[in-house]
This record gives sequence, C-alpha cells and structure tokens, in this order.
Amino acid sequence: MQLTLVGGLLIVLQRRIGRDPIGVIADASILALGAWLVMWIFVVRALFDVSGSEPAVVLIKGLTFSLSAIVLFLLVTLLLGDSDNSAVIWLATAAVISSLLGDMLWALSDAERLDVPLAVRNSPYVLALFAAAGTLLHPGVRNLTAQGAYRATRPIAGRLVLVTAGLAVPITVFVAIDAVDTRDRIVRGGSLIVLSIAVLARVIIAVRSNATLQARLITSAQTDALTGLPNRSLMLEHVDTALRTAWRDSRQPTVLFIDVDRFKNINDSLGHSAGDDVLVAVAERLRMVLPSHCVVGRISGDEFVVLDPQSKGPSEAMVLADRVLESFHEPLALRQGDVFVSASIGVSTYRPSVTNNADDLLRHADTAMYRAKESGRNCVAIFDESMLASVTQRLAVETALYRALERRELRLVHQPIIDVSLGEVVGFEALMRWDREDGSTVSPAEFIPIAEETGIIVPIGSWALLEALTHLGEWIAAGVSPRDATMAVNVSPRQLSDPNFVNVVSEALTRAHIPARQLWLEVTESVMIAQPDQALSTLTKLGDLGVRVAIDDFGTGYSSLSLLQKFPIHRLKIDRSFINGVADNDDARSLVRTIIAMCESMNLDMVAEGVESVRQLQVLGELRCLKAQGFLISHPVAPEAMASTVAAISNVGAWPRIRRP
Ligand code: C2E
Ligand code: MG
Ligand code: MG
Repeated sequence: MQLTLVGGLLIVLQRRIGRDPIGVIADASILALGAWLVMWIFVVRALFDVSGSEPAVVLIKGLTFSLSAIVLFLLVTLLLGDSDNSAVIWLATAAVISSLLGDMLWALSDAERLDVPLAVRNSPYVLALFAAAGTLLHPGVRNLTAQGAYRATRPIAGRLVLVTAGLAVPITVFVAIDAVDTRDRIVRGGSLIVLSIAVLARVIIAVRSNATLQARLITSAQTDALTGLPNRSLMLEHVDTALRTAWRDSRQPTVLFIDVDRFKNINDSLGHSAGDDVLVAVAERLRMVLPSHCVVGRISGDEFVVLDPQSKGPSEAMVLADRVLESFHEPLALRQGDVFVSASIGVSTYRPSVTNNADDLLRHADTAMYRAKESGRNCVAIFDESMLASVTQRLAVETALYRALERRELRLVHQPIIDVSLGEVVGFEALMRWDREDGSTVSPAEFIPIAEETGIIVPIGSWALLEALTHLGEWIAAGVSPRDATMAVNVSPRQLSDPNFVNVVSEALTRAHIPARQLWLEVTESVMIAQPDQALSTLTKLGDLGVRVAIDDFGTGYSSLSLLQKFPIHRLKIDRSFINGVADNDDARSLVRTIIAMCESMNLDMVAEGVESVRQLQVLGELRCLKAQGFLISHPVAPEAMASTVAAISNVGAWPRIRRP
C-alpha cells in the first residue's frame, strides 16, 4: 500500500511541482522527519517491546512506518507546491491521510499503547476507500497529473504554521519522553541530527532565495527587459558618476541621444514583434560599434542613450556619433528579413556653464536630437544654448494655442475645388489659420502637429467642422455657390480616435442644415495604418451617416491597395508632389496616370492638389482627372472674399475644357 502511494505521488508530483520546488521540498522533509521521530517514539520503538513478535514482522512494520513518513513528505510537497489544488487533489489527500490514520491506530493498538476497538481502527480505511473512489470518479481526475494553473498567492502563513508545528511537536515529544535503551537513543539522536540539518538547509535556502530575489528586483528595476541594457534611472546614475569625477582628469563626459527614425512606421507595418526585434538588433549594433568604455542604455521606446565618460570634447563626440550613423548603413538581419534603419542623434557635452546635473546633460542631448530630426533625420546635431530658446518658444506656442480658440484667434480660409471638364467650382476645402496676438499668422503646418500632440485638436477640430459647414450654408443661401457644392474638412488621427467624433459630425451637419452628402472628411493614409480597427469602425459609422471620406496627400504614405479596398473611402487627393512634375516629368505623369486609372476602376472620386500652372491643368485634363484645386485656380481665401473668387473662376474662359468620355 505504502509503496503504491509513494509511486503514485511521485508521478503526480513530478508533473505538478512547478516553479521553485526546493523550498517546498525542504519544508516537507522537516514535516516528514518530525512525523517520523514522533512515530518512532510512540509506535515503532514500542513494536520491539511487544512480546512474541517475530523479528521479520517487526522489520516489516518498521519499514511500513518509514514509508509512511515518505508518503507524508510527498503529500505535503504536493499540497504546498505551486499548482492550484483542485477538488480531486483534496479528495486524494483525504484518502491518503485516512489510510495513514488507519495504519496509525492499528499500530498504536499493536504496540499496546492504546486500546482502540476494532470498528474504530477500521473506520479510517472505510473512509479512505470512499475518498479514493471519489477521486477516481471525479471528472477532474484526468487532470491530476497535469500542471494546473499556478496559484495567485502562495499560502505563506499556513505553510509557516505547519512547519513550525511540525518542528515543535516532535521536539516536545522528544523532550517529554525519555529514551528507554541504547537503540532508542541512537535512533532518536540520529533522527534529531537529520532534522536539524534539514532545518539548517531550509534557513540557508530561504536566506539565499531572498538575496537573489532582491538582486533580481534591483536589476529588473534598472535594466530594460527587452534589450538587457541599463534603463533611464541607471543611465542617470552612470552620467551622474561620470560628471562627479570629470573634474579630476579634465574630461568632458558626453551623451549621445539616439532615436531610431520612423520607428512607428516599422511597428505599424511589420508588427510589434518585428519592432522589438529591431530594437534588440539596434542595441546589439550599438554595443558592437562603440568602444568598451562607453555605456549604452535604452531609456524609452526607440530612444537609446550612449555615455562616453572619457570624451575629450565635442569633436571626439562627433566622430563617435558618425561611427554610430555609419554602422546603420549595414541592414539589420531580422527573422523577417533584412531591415534598414537610420537614426537621428543629438550630442551634448559636459560644460559647467550649462550643465548642472546628469538630467541636464540628457535633456540637452534630447533637445539636440529633435533638431537632428527637424533637419531631415539620419544626421547628428550638437547641442548649443540657442536650442533651449526654441524649446521655450515651442512651449509658449503650446500655451498660446490652448487659449487661441476662446480668444477667437483661429479662423478658416477656403480653397475652391473645380470640376476640370466644366471649369466650375464644385466644392471647397477649409484650411485653418491662426492669427496670434502679436499680429503674426501661424501656418497650420506648424501648429496642427502641436495641437495633435497635445490633444487640443479635438475641440479645435470640432469648431472648424461647424464653422466650415456654416460658411457653406451661407454661400448656398446667398447664391455664391451651387446648391450641391461640397465642403472638405481636414481631420486629424486624434479626432478620429475620439469616441465622440461621429456625434460631433452629425450635430454640426444638423446645426448648419447641410446634407451629409455635401461633407467630405479628409484623412491621411497614416490613419488607416496606425489604428486600423478603430479608424475602420469610425469611418464606417460616418459612412452610415452619408458623410464621405477622402484620402489626403495620397501617395506620400505607406498605405497598401488592400487597405484602400478595406476602408470605406470615396475619394483620393493626389499629392502636390506628383502634380508638380506632371507637366514635364514623364515618371510623375505615368504615376498620376496610374493613380487615376486606379480611381476609375475602384470607382473613386479624385482631386489633384496643388495645381499651379495651366500646363499642369491641361495634362490633368488629358489624363481625365475629374477635379482640381491649387494656386492657379485660387489661393485659399477668407469667407467674405468667396463671392468674388467664385465669380472670377467662372469668368475665366481659358480653363482647358475636356469633354467627358
Ligand atoms: P492639405 O489638407 O493637404 O491642404 C493643402 C495645403 O496646400 C494647404 O496648405 C494649401 O494652402 C496648400 N496649397 C493649396 N494649393 C496649393 C498650390 O497650388 N501650391 C502650393 N505650394 N500649396 C498649395 P495649408 O493651408 O498651409 O495647410 C497645410 C496642412 O495643414 C493641410 O494640408 C492640412 O493637412 C493641415 N490643415 C489645415 N487646416 C486644417 C484643419 O482645420 N484641421 C486639420 N486637422 N488639419 C488642417
Ligand atoms: Mg486637405
Ligand atoms: Mg493635401
């Protein structure tokens, strides 16, 4: 019986023991050894005294009890282990414990220690049979040998009570009952020594695992899990140490702030796991190319920092930065294939006049990195104080932008869109302008990205929507534009991800009394790539309203034909850069021809953006592009000037007229 139990428990255990088994095994052995000691004193030793016992019988009984201690050991290991214990485990435990209890009662009465009636002695066995039958019939029994879910919290307190009791009880018994003969003394002494060794081992294990846990916590708090590089806080410590020792050997510790260019695109187009692979490969490349005294860290997303504590000054730092840039000329070998990346690098060198602490040095390098990005990426910029001024300037723009709406500093201008074959105005695009307090006018190219980043684009965009539709309503009412003229409003990704956006649009249409068919929303290709699911659901809801969607600046992003097919899109606006060359560049012309053919076959409306010359308009007419806008036709104008602008456009007789096929 005991041998079967030991075998069965061993099989269950090896499947279920889970993480960190050593501590559990140590606890279980303390309990089992304690139980063995108690059993020896009460039962096993007494067996020798019973008169008339055959030595072989005594031996078998003794062995049975030693095995019981092992059964107990395995059972406790199982119960304290890492797996969540299901009903089956508890049923099986009840069966094992009952059977052990039965053995115990039998042994006590065999040893003439206790006079237990036969029925009582046998009842635990009956119980054990029931529990065993329950275990076997329980549907969960087939999972008995499977690693179950790890439990959320380990029963630390219960385990402590159990082990302490398992230690206290045998020692009390040991002290209370004297040894009777030499054999008894030897067994008791031996058992106690083994028990002490187990306790000692347990303590050592606990202390060591605590220490490793602490060390692991410290490293995980200071290193980046993905690349294994130091993180921001550790890098700051390194920089701090370098600064504090810099004066000793007149070094100028230098920080390179490295940002992977267009990393978001990599993530969006290749997927996040490929993005992770790129970061790991970049970390590897940096470690390889930099001298060993440099410290490389990753401080967030795609931003890496290199500290050269021994730099002799800016010129040496430049050489280092160039070396990093050059190292990216070789592609990164990923599982998905080779990928080329470039980086923008900001360099900041320690100067006592501007650098007060480690944070400063890092921040200045960051500022310089932004300058490198602005100058077209894949280059290096060295920090100088004038950059601080531009950072302050941007901060001022941000704050002013917050107030711009309530101070009525924002206004809309409109650019007419004509039908190329009729030469008549069929719609308008609303473009935002910001007149600042100081009299300057800020271009949307400058403030829309800031508004987008800070989120103010949401209220501003809602305002623009209503304002533009109101203008259209006024022009229609005044007879300035045809009844079915359309208004195109630019929409940022941030607005599209606002859960309230569809309501805002429908309310603006209602308030301005404009049918949904007469509103075009212009979005850029990036919207379809960055958050495809959310954008798809919003655009579908807008489509249900009857609002139509145009892809702005088509051809400059990374959208694919499959995306165009998947999204409810009704118009492509061919980017200015292609229209620019359409008159005299064969490549540009064939590209535009292809885009137009695609629009025709997908039944999409099309608008050529940025038409500046008659020749361009002629070519577009020949290519059968339907609509156009641009400085040739009209600059964006204020709403008051629209009547005269539309009249002037209709008066021009010279638009190249193309007959519809
Ligand atoms: P966009 O939507 O592609 O607008 C066309 C831009 O090209 C406008 O610049 C317009 O003035 C300019 N443009 C028009 N015809 C010509 C031409 O023949 N030649 C040249 N060189 N340029 C031409 P603008 O007004 O500076 O707007 C720039 C961008 O700012 C817009 O590009 C749009 O993406 C964004 N934007 C403007 N208003 C808003 C707005 O209300 N909300 C949002 N989210 N973005 C806006
Ligand atoms: Mg636009
Ligand atoms: Mg555009």
